[in-house]
Amino acid sequence: MARLWNRLISFDDQRITKLAFEFDYERCRNNWCFDFKDILIKLDLVSHFERKEIIDMSLLDLRLQDFYLSMWKRDIINVSKLRTYVKLKTMVEQESYVKLNLSKSQRSCVAQLRCGILPLRIETGRYIGEQREERICNFCTENSIEDESHFVLDCSLYTELRNEHFKDIISDVNYLQMSNDEKLYHILINFPRKTAKYLVDAIRKRRQVVFGQV
Ligand SMILES: [Zn+2]
Repeated sequence: MARLWNRLISFDDQRITKLAFEFDYERCRNNWCFDFKDILIKLDLVSHFERKEIIDMSLLDLRLQDFYLSMWKRDIINVSKLRTYVKLKTMVEQESYVKLNLSKSQRSCVAQLRCGILPLRIETGRYIGEQREERICNFCTENSIEDESHFVLDCSLYTELRNEHFKDIISDVNYLQMSNDEKLYHILINFPRKTAKYLVDAIRKRRQVVFGQV
């Protein structure tokens, strides 16, 4: 629309297309100009419309990115399931784990963890109407909610797996001084391959304990 706008306002005034545009512009109600003006208002560029000015496409591109980024940030904090996602994802861009040659189950586990749908009690408790504070981990004695952070960082059921996959990371002095949110971010973002392997093994272990499966 902006490209067409830039062309239209540059046309000779006698050209039929320009005359049709001027008619549309003057009317500005339930028509193309009305819709375009509405978009420019949202992007804080309406002065270009009012003064019939050429719109710089790179400026428009930046405004569009800002607009959708703020909309996206506003929407995701309202979805409780995305509790982990909002801590990990700050930019709308392709995540590095997507580009790694992970197996299907590894990629699936990482995606499920990020989206809050890994079958942990924080999620499965929701199916049977448990309050959030009731969704306590049944696999350790810490009396913690079994959420993504507990599953990756704390639950004692997976201590061996954690030592196996994250040994060097979790013994690092800097790591020990981090908050839980920072630890989760550090592990998931900086070590996606190790995280993927850990998640597959930990979910398998959890399943074995719950269902006795091998
Ligand atoms: Zn636990």
